[in-house]
Amino acid sequence: MLKFKLLLSATLLFALFMPTKSTAQKHGYWQQAVDYEMDIDFNVETNRYQGYQKLTYHNNSPDTLDRVFYHLFFNAFQPNSMMDKRSRTIADPDRRVRDRIYHYDETEIGYQKIDWIKQNGENVEFTVKGTILEVHLNEPIEPGESVVFEMEHEAQVPLQTRRSGRDNAEGVRYSMAQWFPKIAAYDEFGWHPNPYIGREFYAPFGTFDVKIHIDRDYVVAAGSILQNPEEVGYGYETADMQVNRPDGEKLTWHFQSENVHDFMWAADPDYTHTTAQVPGGPLLRFFYQSETVAENADEERQSELLANWEALPEYTVKGFQYMSENYGDYPYDEYIVIQGGDGGMEYTMGTLITGNRSLSSLVGVTVHEFVHAWYEGVVANDETKDQWMDEGFTSYASAFIMNHLFNDGEGDPMLSRYNGYFRTVEAGIEEPMHIHADHYVTNAAYGMASYTKGAIFLHQLGYVIGEDVLKSTLNKFYEEWKYKHPSGYDFIRIAERESGMVLDWYYEYWVETTKTIDYEIQSVQDGENGAVATLGRVGLMPMPLDVEVEFTDGSLKHYYIPMRIMWGQKENEFPNIKRDVAEDWPWVFPEYELSIDRPVSEISRIEIDPSGRMADIDRSNNTWELNSDE
Ligand SMILES: [Zn+2]
Repeated sequence: MLKFKLLLSATLLFALFMPTKSTAQKHGYWQQAVDYEMDIDFNVETNRYQGYQKLTYHNNSPDTLDRVFYHLFFNAFQPNSMMDKRSRTIADPDRRVRDRIYHYDETEIGYQKIDWIKQNGENVEFTVKGTILEVHLNEPIEPGESVVFEMEHEAQVPLQTRRSGRDNAEGVRYSMAQWFPKIAAYDEFGWHPNPYIGREFYAPFGTFDVKIHIDRDYVVAAGSILQNPEEVGYGYETADMQVNRPDGEKLTWHFQSENVHDFMWAADPDYTHTTAQVPGGPLLRFFYQSETVAENADEERQSELLANWEALPEYTVKGFQYMSENYGDYPYDEYIVIQGGDGGMEYTMGTLITGNRSLSSLVGVTVHEFVHAWYEGVVANDETKDQWMDEGFTSYASAFIMNHLFNDGEGDPMLSRYNGYFRTVEAGIEEPMHIHADHYVTNAAYGMASYTKGAIFLHQLGYVIGEDVLKSTLNKFYEEWKYKHPSGYDFIRIAERESGMVLDWYYEYWVETTKTIDYEIQSVQDGENGAVATLGRVGLMPMPLDVEVEFTDGSLKHYYIPMRIMWGQKENEFPNIKRDVAEDWPWVFPEYELSIDRPVSEISRIEIDPSGRMADIDRSNNTWELNSDE
């Protein structure tokens, strides 16, 4: 009896704690929390700093932890590191890396050397392998327990290589991203001590309290809120504030932020600092080198680049307004755009972007990166595993913002994404979207899966569930998963709830496989009560169909063919066009007969998905026209 009882409760526990698709992580969801305090003494002569870090780690998991892991990202920038080796062996290396790391000398490499680590005041043993630090705890961390880790470390900032480093191509001295020993993520799937190979990032939410002591000529910009503007000035002071810099060779910059999972900063003696206020939103800060922007460019080019930076704030304000109107409010007080890094990369409350760009490119990269504040900054999916969520959702929303800013909202902002996807399918290099970001065969396949297919995931979902329901899904998703770590299943659960449809098939086919969509119109003939169009499913991925019929008198009618496995249907998206809901299509049937209530002689055109949102890889067979060959 006792044995039976134990067995029963074990089964019950299993049922309670096993995340299933239908309950996702909403019930019993937990996440770890962190409070960082850092004191950084920076030397601009040696490009090194000495750092003290105190991390209060809150174990909110139901698990006892006997070790913890940290990332030491700067160790990637050394010859024969995993990042270096990968870059020298992958077929299509990042052009900013290639074999550069392999040739770095002692002053050009990056490193983080740990002097000591303490757990609750006692020294602990640790080992370092490449970019991962493993701490062997003296005492395990029990569920619900908080511990304090302290460490002292010395770091050297590498030459600008990938996202971070010193002396970038545009002369920015320090782009400090992925720069501090950062505890790895722990979630229901365990520890994520992913070595830094190329991408991507995942970390617990918490607070940051950071003091940076640096040469007083340097202007510091950070994705955080400055606490002592009256001691540094440099444009941080308010109109009524008297700036009193303390004596000494260095200034201390004190930043604090909460509900964030990262801290990025940059420093340069030549930064120009401007601001713009988003009405009802955050204060925007811009840092760029007005003196040295495109140092080697001729005068005309220089003034053009400066004009672009002067125009950028207005576009950014409009972009923020578009985001909050459509996808939810930006929750922090400030956002910062910094010239630095080697392209564009998103961080908490800010971005590092290269600055020598045309206006549309400068606005484009800024828009993409600040949209990440929503999809990565606030809603922080695991970027290593579900990178298609942050990159895809960001690409989707930024396409619409750019269309709004430069094209008055006309045209199809997703067209180039679809065409890119079709080309990749044709090239045969596509890989599923849920592969770990570092484990794709090629960088091209990663880019396609995360940016392009991720964006199409949403646009095409709008086709399946309707545009309005997609919008409410995105808004609910943002509200419910703010400051949390959702997976793709959590998103699709909200889409199911909002639409009243079962959507597991959509997620599984589109995210977990590379199966493609292709529907055709096989024939149109007269039947007993009008015409019968025979439709065929050629592709392996099934979809519901919107079919538009145009009659010879110029009128239009829509037929909607739901799939049986959806157990639901979308509302008519075009209420000014009459729509008939046809019999649902069980996907195993390769063919389907659609009855149209008028004879063939009165039909001038029949088209599958005239909206173009379904990623049908062969659209040549989607349309039937009167007098054309069937
Ligand atoms: Zn991105």
